Amino acid sequence: MEPRVHPSTTAVTAGRPPRIPDNPVNTPIVPASTFHAEGPTEYAREGNPTAAAFEEALGALEHGHATVFSSGMAAANAILDLIPIGSTVIAPTNTYTGVAVRLKELAERSAINLILIPAPDTQAILAALPQADFLWLESPTNPMLDEADIQKCLAAAQTHKVISVVDNTFATPVTQRPLTMGADMVLHSVTKILSGHSDLLMGAVIASDPQRSEQIRIRRILLGAMPSAFDCFLALRGLRTLYLRYEKSESNARVIVSKLLGDSRVSRVRYPGWGTIAAIEVEGDADLVCKSTNIWTYATSLGGVESLLERRRRWSLESETVPENLIRLSLGIEHPDDLWTDLDSALNKA
Ligand SMILES: *Cc1c(COP(=O)(O)O)cnc(C)c1O
Repeated sequence: MEPRVHPSTTAVTAGRPPRIPDNPVNTPIVPASTFHAEGPTEYAREGNPTAAAFEEALGALEHGHATVFSSGMAAANAILDLIPIGSTVIAPTNTYTGVAVRLKELAERSAINLILIPAPDTQAILAALPQADFLWLESPTNPMLDEADIQKCLAAAQTHKVISVVDNTFATPVTQRPLTMGADMVLHSVTKILSGHSDLLMGAVIASDPQRSEQIRIRRILLGAMPSAFDCFLALRGLRTLYLRYEKSESNARVIVSKLLGDSRVSRVRYPGWGTIAAIEVEGDADLVCKSTNIWTYATSLGGVESLLERRRRWSLESETVPENLIRLSLGIEHPDDLWTDLDSALNKA
């Protein structure tokens, strides 16, 4: 860890091999399922050198101990696996689809007692915390862009000894570092903004306590949720440009949102005022908007260098609380004028 430099420097310098003559500047991909015995890795389900390099870099950025997984959902399931049977869990009414479905499944089989509260309703979260065991936060939420007061919620969770996790996929450490506000764990879909090129699936859990991090690592080994060395290499390469990409995507988001506000073709714009993701509710045919663009790509997921848009309710598992006409916008790094011209003409067609 390099506490004295700026985080954008850490994103470039952390997780490199030692500076020894002729050592490679990047950690090489090692295609091996097993390693000579009595070293730190031993078997590829337990880790690989590129994963360790990525974990070092992400851990430095989030101020904790990182463990990578084969997807964001694999990382989420490792956390859910550690919640004792019978626990009372508070979660946002609108949380990431896969997590929402898993929480509901656990509640239906009486493994947990689930309390759903809208993320922005801080008072209700604070009121429920004294009776709770676990707090699941996501801010801003996917795809509604609801913001939680994570600072207040995490402080109260600490007071009541409630274990907490923050899904930080949308904010990334560029904008918020929940472990420094008292969160026990941070969850990432590395698939999205952190890797940034829509070319891999990966997840991560970052814990402040090394013992909790070790429990998470054991979950990964037992669930068999290790990402490949190649994916770890791509993710680390993507992470090197996180700050550059985020800055450009966020400035694009601000340009597009400012044009959409007050546009009569759009009934609502959801944007926290920062970040790279927005959502709009359109007056016309939302599917037709998605199918009418040439620069924006009609595809699911988010956080890549290419701008994506998608009507979320086309997924049968998406929550009914998400409006039918809601389109999620993921801003890439193209020129904002081209993005606007393209979206403007798609809105006209619909
Ligand atoms: C995509 C996403 C996930 C799940 O991650 P995968 O890598 O798709 O498994 C979890 N949380 C949020 C907020 C997401 O956007």
